[in-house]
Amino acid sequence: MREELLNNPVFHMAAEQFDRTADFLGLSNDVRERCKWPKRLLTVSIPIKLDSGETHVLFGYRVQHQLSRGPVKGGLRFHPNTDLGEVAALAMWMNWKCALMGLPFGGGKGGVACDPRTMSVKELENLTRRYTSEMLPFIGPETDVMAPDMGTNAQVMAWMLDVYSAHAGHLVPGVVTGKPVNLQGSEGREAATGHGVAFLATRALSKCQLDPDKATAIVQGFGNVGYYAALTLSRFGIKIIGISDVTGALYHPEGIDLAALKRHLDSTGDIKSYPDADTIDPDAMLVQECDILVPAAVDRVITEHNAADLKCKILAEAANGPTTPEADAIIEKRDDIFLIPDILCNAGGVTVSYFEWVQNIQRFQWSEQEVLSKLDTMMAKAFDRVLAFARYKKIPHRLAALSLGIQEVAEVKQQRGLFP
Ligand code: GLU
Repeated sequence: MREELLNNPVFHMAAEQFDRTADFLGLSNDVRERCKWPKRLLTVSIPIKLDSGETHVLFGYRVQHQLSRGPVKGGLRFHPNTDLGEVAALAMWMNWKCALMGLPFGGGKGGVACDPRTMSVKELENLTRRYTSEMLPFIGPETDVMAPDMGTNAQVMAWMLDVYSAHAGHLVPGVVTGKPVNLQGSEGREAATGHGVAFLATRALSKCQLDPDKATAIVQGFGNVGYYAALTLSRFGIKIIGISDVTGALYHPEGIDLAALKRHLDSTGDIKSYPDADTIDPDAMLVQECDILVPAAVDRVITEHNAADLKCKILAEAANGPTTPEADAIIEKRDDIFLIPDILCNAGGVTVSYFEWVQNIQRFQWSEQEVLSKLDTMMAKAFDRVLAFARYKKIPHRLAALSLGIQEVAEVKQQRGLFP
């Protein structure tokens, strides 16, 4: 029954990763069961008026994986393929990510099955407001704090803040993070996930004794995470030789001018027609030779079909769940790829969300420099812990990162005991 409710390939993948880690940690059955299953699974129907005058009912979800270590934290996505099982998987990953980073949060994720690219701004606003109002009994700065994810952004967070605050009768900035800076959002939040990815990728380069000025990178995805990851990598001196989005992929061995590409995307709506690089098959792009490969789009893109063909030295997982367990097994055997696992690699976003939440509680605004330097310190600390644990136990980086996160949660479960 539990498995049937969450029957989704992404959930199976997250559950498989959890089971492997729980076996490795030797978790008792009691703690294991309590760590594995989500605390709250919410499904709501969202009736909205379309611009055509018709009424349409969409399905929305929020999964709160666990509330033992603090409020639930995690993004809200608008995507056509979202369902309860996928959201549950993403909430579980958020849980281990927050614990690994030492943030006082449990994991959560939300989603609405819709295609934001085909919707008007008014329709998106209606959808966001109605979703938020359906969620009112379950969210708040002390219970569940949402943030942007795929298909959502700072504007969506501003609408959510407005609905929640109107209901409370006063401004409640800490109900969401990733909101506009002049609405008490944090400096540096928009670039945070991509910045963290690039920061850790350069640390991996130095572990592999590679020079950033001679290094190359391929980035799959040109949304918020992919764009800022590519931009920050290029600021660190790394040449971006391949980049893709849903419209297609580009390849240029001499390097792609990201500012020009962004201008092209903003004016035409696609990257494929960008004139100063060759187009390439998006699947073929992933297996081109490069130093750093950054999957920054959807889940399950590195599979048993392409893992053996990867020609990168560092795999920096900016997306959630980009590598399947079958591909993991191949990469582990190859032993020539330095993996930065997703829950570590993309933790910059939720870490700056934590800073934003703290600033909201303090009614204080930190500078961008302060935010980024605190972020770098926390990312470096988590990176070093994962590497040291992996070396000490002679285990892969993913298992090490998951172990540190899950162990933290398991300890809290044990300390708090089981009620009644
Ligand atoms: N959606 C982002 C993630 O998957 C950020 C979540 C947050 O900031 O709460 O990590």
